[in-house]
Amino acid sequence: MNSCPRCDKTQIRLEHQGKEQGKVVWSIFYCEDCGYSFRDSEPDSVLVRDQRRPFFNLESTDPEDYPFMMAPNPRKKSA
Ligand SMILES: [Zn+2]
Repeated sequence: MNSCPRCDKTQIRLEHQGKEQGKVVWSIFYCEDCGYSFRDSEPDSVLVRDQRRPFFNLESTDPEDYPFMMAPNPRKKSA
């Protein structure tokens, strides 16, 4: 993988590889820009940016470009 399918940035790192009989059969990558994790054995609808649902892609990873920031839900104490 050369770039993140979600944000298109290239700061991705290899997190883990699944092996069978010593051969790599899948790899998990993590995008250091947007925090997305993905496995290289997923379908093109996940891995290929142009084939992903545009709603799930990011045009920017800079929070200043977001129209608003959602506040975290308040914590509720359980009895
Ligand atoms: Zn990303």
